[in-house]
Amino acid sequence: MDSLAWKPYCRPFRSPLRTAHGEWPQREGLIVRLEHEGQVGFGEVAPLEDFGTESLLDASEALDALIEDPELELPPELVCTRFALDCAAGMLERAPARPHHVAGLLPAGITAYAALQTLLDQGFTTFKWKIGVESMEAEQHLCRELFKLLHGKGILRLDANAGLDYAATEAWMAFLEDYPVEFLEQPLPPGEEASMAILAERYSVPVALDESLCQPGALTAFTELFPKGPFVIKPALIGSVKSYLSWRAFRPGVRVVYSSAFETAIGIEAALRLASMDEHSSAAVGFGTLEYFPHEDGFSGHIYGPILTPGLPVDAFERLWKRL
Ligand SMILES: [Mg+2]
Repeated sequence: MDSLAWKPYCRPFRSPLRTAHGEWPQREGLIVRLEHEGQVGFGEVAPLEDFGTESLLDASEALDALIEDPELELPPELVCTRFALDCAAGMLERAPARPHHVAGLLPAGITAYAALQTLLDQGFTTFKWKIGVESMEAEQHLCRELFKLLHGKGILRLDANAGLDYAATEAWMAFLEDYPVEFLEQPLPPGEEASMAILAERYSVPVALDESLCQPGALTAFTELFPKGPFVIKPALIGSVKSYLSWRAFRPGVRVVYSSAFETAIGIEAALRLASMDEHSSAAVGFGTLEYFPHEDGFSGHIYGPILTPGLPVDAFERLWKRL
């Protein structure tokens, strides 16, 4: 007899996170625990409603309904809940534990400069910086300084979190022609993929999709427009693990970058396991998010650094669960 349970968590950031979506003071999510044939498994529901995922309320209601009636079918749009349940059911259990290079995450605005210096000293070589938060003039001025500091030592990804319009995207892409940028991530909002594909054709800077990929079926739908990607895959938001793996198996040529959605150790472990299964992706993973929580809050388990390796034991998850 299976036994399913869930608990909520709330985890304040060291300081509120600034993105093109605004300020974000704390990460809230759910931890799912499933006992199945004597095996215990954990999963994490870490929604990003700005990306169009389900809300925590949707997720908790769906989990309650499943506890009541385990035969119920989960609606496909509950992508985070689906992923958590698949993890708890052990679908990533046999994934290898491969080490991954990590992209350091720079804060928006002027503090990015000092953060870049610190991360370079720590040995990071790939960095991500959020744009679309301040004026373009101020950000491009700062961007030049970041590239100067980076010169010969690393590569930068820029993430606009869907916060630009067509003209601003084009201005950024023209600006970036002269710099060693890995990609510009999601400049335009979901729904404007065709425009992003046109700009990606016109300029040498690759345009990566992130927010656009959150809806069920989006991966398949946009593979034609972006046959080489890059696609930023947040495992927490992929929905069914099986469907994702079958998409990936037939599209090895799409450049995939695995990325965190600000999860606890449970979600991070699952995301790194999924990334470890993907032998076609060697891009630095977007797990600079770990540094954005206080180490002593008890929700982390992996050691943050330029290399991250999955492999936390299930009793670490059991301890996290018991503290909730
Ligand atoms: Mg992004």
